[in-house]
Parts: sequence; structure tokens; C-alpha cells
Amino acid sequence: MRQGHPWVYRSDVLHLDDPGPGSLVSVGDERGNLVGTAFYSSSSQIALRMISTRAVSPEQLSELVRDRVRRAIAIRQSFVHDSNAFRLVFSEADQLPGIIADRYNDLLTVQFLTQATDQPAVRQTLVDTLLTEIHPASIVERVDHRIRELEDLPPREMQVLHGERTSTIFTMNGIRFQYAAYAGQKTGAFLDQRENYKAAAKYASGEALDVFTYHGGFALHLAKKCVRVTAVDSSRSALETAEANEKLNPGAPEIEWMEANAFDLLKDYAAATRQFDTIVLDPPAFAKSKKEVPGALRGYKEINLRAMRMLRPGGILITCTCSHHVSEEEFVNALRSAAADSRRTLRILEKRGQAQDHPVLLTVPETSYLKCLILQA
Ligand code: SAH
Repeated sequence: MRQGHPWVYRSDVLHLDDPGPGSLVSVGDERGNLVGTAFYSSSSQIALRMISTRAVSPEQLSELVRDRVRRAIAIRQSFVHDSNAFRLVFSEADQLPGIIADRYNDLLTVQFLTQATDQPAVRQTLVDTLLTEIHPASIVERVDHRIRELEDLPPREMQVLHGERTSTIFTMNGIRFQYAAYAGQKTGAFLDQRENYKAAAKYASGEALDVFTYHGGFALHLAKKCVRVTAVDSSRSALETAEANEKLNPGAPEIEWMEANAFDLLKDYAAATRQFDTIVLDPPAFAKSKKEVPGALRGYKEINLRAMRMLRPGGILITCTCSHHVSEEEFVNALRSAAADSRRTLRILEKRGQAQDHPVLLTVPETSYLKCLILQA
């Protein structure tokens, strides 16, 4: 905590004055000196999430939230270009632990992920501030049932908090995408890859393969530069949205959408000595906890090894991990090992992370979760 981390685990708390679930508590050190103010959770292992190094009264909380939401929005306005879809507020990374807000053109989604942020006053302040600052057509609350259960919060269904619309079309780097708030993973689209899509398109050429395509984020960007694009996902419904997205962006080449298990497909392609000039690997998080890391690293090595073998000389590999339990060093080591086994020489063109609307705090390593390397054979 003294090094600037906002979390205090329950096992590190010496004394608690019986705070109610989700209450605002002042935090002191062992000598009784004020360290700051935190959100309390009665159920999470992270008992305290610091929100200030000063005293904050319940009456001052709304103003603090409003102020931070405004600042978070202003940061995005200076960083985000050519897109009307991006993350407006990102929890700890914006000093608002437990609050996430995303913009998809005229539709906003919000999530309240902790006992403290699910309180009516905080919910209302977020909605009011977003309405005044952005003037969206609608605001939809997305619900993560597993997190609500972990936080000991009563079940809640997704709901429209303002307006009526629950779907829209947004633009990212000049490409159009469908958005349906009541469908999809996470908050519905992978906004954190926005800058990596652009970087991938910068290097892409020839025949391209986008593995784990979801709604076609990379594939649609690659299509601008490549003569052929094949995009793979195991989810039929994700591919249906991807195809609909392709229709929103007419032009050559036509993308080949394939429903397949990526592990099997890469194995088959490698066995058939298929070759590509550009390959994207953007799998789901293989490690959801620390103890899954060794298995995850084996998985990353396997898919990267096969992809490296399929690259034509000069070919480009854009390879990602979104597991925050897997460090950049561990990921790079898995890639090194894959390169050695594939007997290919690869140069690092770029080491990238998540888009800037998903800020990384220097003192909170957990805020940095997406790693993306661009390699050339
Ligand atoms: N690249 C995407 C995000 C990928 S999310 C983007 O930029 O938007 C991970 C995707 O992997 C999901 O769409 C999921 O359906 C798919 N997936 C998970 N396991 C898979 C497997 N074994 N084979 C193929 N696709 C898989």
C-alpha cells in the first residue's frame, strides 16, 4: 500500500470497526495514523480498495466520483482518434475501483462490480455524470453474475438505465461494427485491441490468418491490406456477428469465416504445410488464476510454434495474451521457446499492450494485462 497499490487483503487487516457491506471506511496504520479512505467489501478477499489518501466523507463521495469520471472522459478525448467506441472509465486504472463504463457510439454500458459501487448513490452519480458529459441515446447496465455472487450482491438482470436502444453501430479506425449490449463476451467488444488492430494493419500483407477472430476485429482490419483473409473461431454466433460486420464494410477481399477449434486447425494447417504472410493469434485468457499459468504457457507455446512454422519468409506474426497472471516476461519466454523449436528467426517489430483508454498504473501491475508482440520471420 505504501508503494501505491490500492488493495488491502482481508488477511492483512488488523482491526475492523464492523463496517457494513460496501461502506466507505477510513484506514489507519498500526499506530493509528490516517492512511486514507477505502471502499470496503464484506465478502471479497480484497477487503479494502483505497480511493484516496485523504479523508473522504460519505457526503463528499458523489463529488469525488463525478470529478474522477469527468477526468477519465477528458483523458480519452485527448488519446482516442478515429473511433467512437472506447472505454470511458476503467476501475482501479481511473481510481474508481469497481466501476467500468464503455462507449459504443451513442450507447454506453456500465458495470458496478463491488458492494461499494453498487450502492444507489454511486450508481446514480455515474449515470448522471455520463448523461451530462456524453449525452448518449441510452445507457445499459451489464451484469457479471459470477462477480455479483463473489461480492455477495443480490442477483440482478441486465437493464436499460436510460433511453431505450440496446444496439447500435460503432466505428473503430474507420471500420464499422455492430454492437448489441445484450450479447457477447466481456462488455461485448474487445475495445482494448483498438490500437493493436491499427498496428497489425500497418504490417499486414499477402495471405492472412486471424485465429480467435470473435467479431472479426483483426480480420476486418487485415482485409484493408491483404489479398486473402481467413478468420477462425469456435463460436458460431461470434462468426455470425463477424459476417454481419463484414457486410457493413463492403470491399475486397471477401473474408473466409471458419468455425473450428483453433488448436486442431493450426495442427492440420501446419501438417499440410500451409503458408501465410500474416498471422494473428488473439486467444481467450488461458490462465484465469496463478495456478493455471504453467498450462497456459504450454498453450501459448503450442499455438505460436505452429504459427511460426507457417510464416513465409518476411511474414508477420501478431501474437497476444490477455491473461494478467501471465507476465510479459513469461509470455516472451514462451515465444522464445516456440521460435527455437520452430527453427525460425524472428525479429521483434513492436512490443505492445492494451489501448490507452485502458490505462496502466505504474504502481498497480494488475492494470497491465494485455500483451501483444508483432514479430517478423
Ligand atoms: N481477436 C478478437 C478477440 C478474441 S476473444 C477481437 O479482437 O475481438 C477469444 C475468442 O476465442 C472468442 O471469440 C472465442 O469464441 C474463441 N475461442 C475460444 N476457444 C477457442 C478454440 N479452442 N478455438 C477457436 N476459437 C476459440
